[in-house]
Amino acid sequence: MQLIEFTDNGLYCRAGDFYIDPWRPVNKAIITHAHSDHAKPGSNSYLCHHFSTPLLKLRLGDINVQSIEWGETILINNVKVSLHPAGHIIGSSQVRVEYNGEVWVVSGDYKTEDDGISGAFEPVRCNTFISESTFGLPIYNWKPQKEIFKSIQQWITENQAKGQSSVIIAYSLGKAQRVLKSVAEITDKIFAHGAIWNTQQALINAGWKLPPVERVTSDMKKEDFKNSVIIAPPSADGTSWMKRFTPYSVGVCSGWMQVRGNVRRRNADAGFALSDHADWNGLISAVKNTGAEKVFVTHGFQAAFSRYLNENGIEAAEIKTEYGGEEEEQEKSSTTETQDKEINTAEDKE
Ligand SMILES: [Zn+2]
Ligand SMILES: [Zn+2]
Repeated sequence: MQLIEFTDNGLYCRAGDFYIDPWRPVNKAIITHAHSDHAKPGSNSYLCHHFSTPLLKLRLGDINVQSIEWGETILINNVKVSLHPAGHIIGSSQVRVEYNGEVWVVSGDYKTEDDGISGAFEPVRCNTFISESTFGLPIYNWKPQKEIFKSIQQWITENQAKGQSSVIIAYSLGKAQRVLKSVAEITDKIFAHGAIWNTQQALINAGWKLPPVERVTSDMKKEDFKNSVIIAPPSADGTSWMKRFTPYSVGVCSGWMQVRGNVRRRNADAGFALSDHADWNGLISAVKNTGAEKVFVTHGFQAAFSRYLNENGIEAAEIKTEYGGEEEEQEKSSTTETQDKEINTAEDKE
């Protein structure tokens, strides 16, 4: 029997009688990170990293949650469990499970570049690695975040020179905190949509030092936003909520922006290929560094990624999960449609 089984409720360790990121309510859930496709409500108890606790409480309400430190080992029914940084968002962790000398690691979502907030991704040796593959195609090849942040800052400065405010579209948990930190280096006139502001408050209350932002409220006047930066989640993009910022320019921060057609499709003035997931090379190096002899791929471009691994001597298989929803996932179909057309232009986008 496999140490971790793929069930209708999610990834299940029978020896320890716990689930990892279950998509249905269970008795004991270990949570890799607080995004809604990995952290579902209704389970009796949760285990996560300390940093995830305020985020899980914000999103799931009053839950029964135990938290541990990265690298700390606990025993659950004689199964050794520990968490290791996944570099995806604040608190995001890989779950290492060891029983009878066999080791499995569940990655959750991860990125291999250290973003300075989420903790540096730690390669963990294992026999079997369960990996995501959100950007598991060779066209996804990120620039270093330093360069992307420089382009964002430049774009803001250009907008200010034109008398426009800059609306940055970024996922409320993960991308928004990274972008904020960078934007705060050049301006202190930063506003945030309620969803981003709430996340910010939960983190500040938990002791995080984050740059100050002001929440956008209905009593604010148009003049208040002049030449400012507004950070908003994708759900606010294109809605009447945006009108108060006129004149403004919209910049979308998402890995999908690597493909030009998606910038047009989103009606964005600028696209920044900034992602909280590993790019193609990041995925491959992560898998290789685990030394795993078997890899299961949970979500994203599973077929392409597992085919590549199989062709390169690492046994890989796709598994069906319910991951891939909250962030980074919604533009996948359009990417697939356009990837052939855009594959040649993706590189020279500036
Ligand atoms: Zn995620
Ligand atoms: Zn995910």
